[in-house]
Amino acid sequence: MNAKELDKTYIAPTYQRFDLLLTRGQGSELYDEAGKRYIDLGSGIAVNLFGAADPVHAAAVTAQLHELAHACNYYYTEPQSRLAELLIEKSGMRRVFFGNSGAEANECAIKAARLYGEQHGCRHKIITLKNSFHGRTIATLAATGQDVLHAHFGPFPEGFVYADADDLASVRGLSGGACAVMMELIQGEGGVLPLDESFVKGVAALCREKDMLLIIDEVQTGNGRTGHMFAYQHYGITPDIVTTAKGLGGGLPIGACLMGERGAVLTTGLHGSTFGGNPVCCAGAISVVERLTEDLFAQVWEKGEYVKSALVGAKGVKSITGLGLMLGIEIEKNAHDVAARCIENGLLVLTAKEKVRLLPALNIPFPLLAEGVCVLRDVLSE
Ligand code: PLP
Repeated sequence: MNAKELDKTYIAPTYQRFDLLLTRGQGSELYDEAGKRYIDLGSGIAVNLFGAADPVHAAAVTAQLHELAHACNYYYTEPQSRLAELLIEKSGMRRVFFGNSGAEANECAIKAARLYGEQHGCRHKIITLKNSFHGRTIATLAATGQDVLHAHFGPFPEGFVYADADDLASVRGLSGGACAVMMELIQGEGGVLPLDESFVKGVAALCREKDMLLIIDEVQTGNGRTGHMFAYQHYGITPDIVTTAKGLGGGLPIGACLMGERGAVLTTGLHGSTFGGNPVCCAGAISVVERLTEDLFAQVWEKGEYVKSALVGAKGVKSITGLGLMLGIEIEKNAHDVAARCIENGLLVLTAKEKVRLLPALNIPFPLLAEGVCVLRDVLSE
């Protein structure tokens, strides 16, 4: 059997796969088994920040593999400590816990919030937003404000309540007995929907007033994606906890829960992970984070503006949302059909709800980006 047949035979069919087998890549160009080239405007859902087969990442990971692939968390390791220092410097938080995914970063944030609530007046409720997405584990699914994802898997852990996005009164109304508010600043899976700045600032103030932790889920928006290290830096707020993953590892699994002054409550024995902070993943992540500079962020911003200007008013495009290189395109056609047609034309795009979603590598060269946008325009206008 070939790989597609093996997949269909042996892998739990939880993903709706396109008929495409990728075998290799170089930067923002990927190739299938027949050698056909694709321009990649999805970067593995915001993961490959510096594209495929990134030589800097590969060198860092390979060197670490030859030194020490794994050590358990009873001991110190150099890459974990160095990565922690970098992330703390770039975020202004105080402590980090490393896990292996976005969901795990959020699990850690949920535990920290519950502990904070216990220490501050026996409060355990966590307010999240309707249409949010926080992961696929049972607790992060409970945190996810989408009924459609809750079907079949209850009962869920108690204490998650869902407020309306951009409606401060709705958050306030749920704040009795709450220890935290957790939200994405741009709802990614929900359709690339940025929150209103006045709402976000209002929630931050409410969290102070009601002694709740403000948890910002930057799993998708973090690590330069929106033209800042973290999206909260656009909004002028200081969260108590920031979670991130995806782009952090440059293609290897790592998640981080960054805790600020009020959120850094976890102490010895209260949380842990076998692979969290794995030296190889951390060495790769250091090579990524070290390159997340202001200069790069300016390019991200410029490229995002370019894509918007090239698509606004194009045939079949209704509207464009998002910041930097996290863009959602509301279209007239069915988004899944458009993504499939793009594949036929040598272009990889993502979808989010009924939108086409673009999350290209941050270092995608301008000509390649322009070529990809051209293909997308053609497909949308067919
Ligand atoms: N939070 C947000 C905002 C996400 O977009 C995702 C994944 O898409 C997650 C959490 C879950 O991350 P992971 O799939 O790494 O567990």
